This record gives sequence, structure tokens and C-alpha cells, in this order.
Amino acid sequence: MTPEKTKPGHNRESRLFYQSRSRRPLIDHAKGVYMWDVDSKRYIDASSGAMVSNIGHSDPRVIAAMQDQMQKATFAYRLHFENEAAENLAWRLAERAPGDLERVFFVSGGSEAVESCLKLARQYALAIGEAQRFKVISRFPSYHGSTLGALAITGYTPMHAPFAPMMVDQPKIPAPTCYLDRDDLSDHDRGLKYANMLEAEILRQGPETVLAFIMEPVGGAATGALVAPDSYYARIREICDQYGILLIYDEVMTGAGRTGTYFAAEHWNIVPDILAVSKGLAAGYVPLGAMIAPDRIVGPVLDHGGFIHGYTYAGNPIACAAGNAVLDVIEQDDLLANAAQSGAALKAELTKLMAQHAMIGDVRGLGLMLAIELVANRDSMEPIAPKHMAAARLVDIAYDKGLIIYWRRTRGGYRGDHVMICPPLTITPDQFDDILIPLNEALAELATELKQ
Ligand code: PMP
Repeated sequence: MTPEKTKPGHNRESRLFYQSRSRRPLIDHAKGVYMWDVDSKRYIDASSGAMVSNIGHSDPRVIAAMQDQMQKATFAYRLHFENEAAENLAWRLAERAPGDLERVFFVSGGSEAVESCLKLARQYALAIGEAQRFKVISRFPSYHGSTLGALAITGYTPMHAPFAPMMVDQPKIPAPTCYLDRDDLSDHDRGLKYANMLEAEILRQGPETVLAFIMEPVGGAATGALVAPDSYYARIREICDQYGILLIYDEVMTGAGRTGTYFAAEHWNIVPDILAVSKGLAAGYVPLGAMIAPDRIVGPVLDHGGFIHGYTYAGNPIACAAGNAVLDVIEQDDLLANAAQSGAALKAELTKLMAQHAMIGDVRGLGLMLAIELVANRDSMEPIAPKHMAAARLVDIAYDKGLIIYWRRTRGGYRGDHVMICPPLTITPDQFDDILIPLNEALAELATELKQ
């Protein structure tokens, strides 16, 4: 290593551009819900990476399907050839997608999927002669991706700061953090209260200028498995219909079975106008994402000569072969049912931890998308000071114990301080102790540290 190339303060042992807070060990191998580093230390992957490895690691059926495809053709550029794997996967996704969503546009990840939704929405407005609609309302906090368009609608102010002023500044409404409310409203009315904030924002912006509203049906990294009352989902759909605004569901994290149904939208019988999915779609075996939209939107765009822009690797055969094999595994092993059952059972176990650990203020989530929120005081739900470092510390203590849980910095206005617990959808109750025992110890150690 040439010392003059290494700037002070940068990691001296690696040429990678690290963004994590601390250097992690090298991965050696992974199987099912477990991972091993090069020193043979075992970890339980209770976050599926970043809620990606839905069917667990190294499933031989997916590896075989990828190998088969690799023997035939590794890459065929989408403007030169169609490929059977992409065709098949598109049919299968269209079959599973809510309502009339039936046209599939493949991409290589979540940000690209969200970006494509935004571009399709805009192209649709132009195609139907509503060029004045360009604003995309989203929620605060939220996370929709790291490309500039997806970042602009991400309600996560600290992520905007390094690029300020953002190229496109878009309006945001509060996410439905009902569990923090201390009013006397029923769940139903609280759902309506938060949904009606969308209507108020639409009116403030001028309804004729609003193109779309985008939401994660179950809030992910920024809000920690945030589920709203049923009334919220139906009212949001109603408001979008009333003002002719496209409803985009970002199912990058919730899609592909994470919440116990293939798409989270199914829980509330909502048909969004456009949907983004990624992460669990190829479950980490290879990068893959998709935008799914109905003909009633795609048709006018194509007739108008519009296009979304292709990505070089869009729908590449290996990624789609992996996607098909992942879907086979989900079906053969009945993983949606397992996500629902194991998810409910794990949530119940996490809730029991509240009795021993006063710092757990809330346990929430749907299926195997679960989170616990750490608080200084359960009544006020104030986070532990210094804000957000308790969750970060918990993740580090747990990591040393071989338990991987997920934490995302949530500075910048949001009060929450949560960790997500989202193991692969293959997890069974006999493996719960590998999560619960180290988690229990980590919480106790954190409490002792905080007293010092
Ligand atoms: N949307 C949501 C809801 C996400 O959780 C993520 C990733 N955490 C993204 C979009 C961006 O996906 P990617 O990192 O694959 O670009």
C-alpha cells in the first residue's frame, strides 16, 4: 500500500469505500438463517441482510437454477434479445400482483424500481395531457432509495443534507406514527387522521399540480416496521382517487413475502396504481427489482411514444432465473404461511421481553417484518439520550454475540430509536432462542451500560 494514497482518517486496511461505522469481519459462508465469518464465528441473520435474504442463504435450488442459466447464456442485452426467464417471471409476478397490475419492468434494485415508478407516473401525466402534475408527495420519515429522484422523495432529512439543496424538493406528510399519539381517538379515527393529512397537503399544493403519492405500506428502515390502522390504507386510496393522483406502493422491502402475503397491499385489499419491488424478489442471490403497473397507465405512455429509460442489466437472464427459483422456493416451502405464523410467534416472544426490559417502548410489525423501539420512558416514549445511540449500541452488542439485527440512523426530527428483527421467512420457532437469548442479554448489558 502506498502511504501517500491513504488519507488520514480513512480506513488503512482496505481500498473499499466503507460507509459502515465500524469494520466488520470477512464473510466466509452462509446457510439458511446462519452466516459464518472467516474465523468460524457463527451469526444468526435476524435481519436477512437488509431484509433481502427472504428464503435464507445458499438454497441449492436457486444456485442450481442460476448455474443452469449460466450454462446457456449469461447475458443478453434487452434490446437485442428477449429471454425466457424474464418472460416467465413477469407472468408470475403479474399473476400475484394486486388488481390490474400486470406489466412488469425489470431493474437491478430498489432505488431503480422507485425511480422507474416516478418516471412512469410523470410520463403518464404527459401522455394524458396533464403536464402540470409533477409533485410527488411522500411521508416523513420514509426511505425510498439512494438515487437522486428516490432520495428527493425520501423523508429522511439527514440524507438530503450532503446534497442540499436537493435538485427536486418534494412535499412530505407525517408518517402514521399512531403509537406515539396520546389522544383519545380510536384506532380507526387515528388512521383517518393521518390519511387526511394527505388531503390537506394536496389542497395546500394545489391538486392539479400533484402527480403521485408514494408510501411504504409497512414503514421500513426509517420508521421500523410501522403499520397503520386499516382505515388509513382505504382512506389514502380514496383521496388519491378523488384528486386523480397516482398511488405508488414502495414494496421494495415489504414485497416478496416479508409480511406474510406476497405483496403487503393484499392485507388491506388495496390496488395501488404502480408498485415497486426488489430485495426479496431474488432474495440476495443476485440484484433484481421490478416496477409493476397496469395497462391503463403503461398503454397511454407507449402510445404517446414515451419511455422510462432502460437499465443495461434490466431483466438479465441470470437475475430472472434466480427470481423464478426464489418464487419456486417460496411456493414449495409455503414460506408465506411461515412468515405469517413464525412472525406472529416471534412478535409474541419479543413482546414478552417488555416485562424484563423497561427500555422496550413498543414491539410492532407484520409477518416477519418486526421491530422494537427503545425508549427512556414508556409513557412519554421519549428516546434514550443521546438520541438514537441506544439502538446503535444494541446492534453492536448483539453483533458481538453473533446476532445480526438491523439499525438505521434516524436522526433529523424523528423521535424513534428502533431496531428491526426480520429473519429469513424460513425461520422456525426452534431457532427463536438463537435470537431471543442473545437479544435478552444484549438488552440487559445495554441497560447496565446506560446506568454507568
Ligand atoms: N425503498 C425501500 C422501502 C427500501 O427499504 C430500500 C432499501 N432499503 C429502497 C427503496 C432502495 O433499495 P436499494 O438499496 O436496493 O436501491
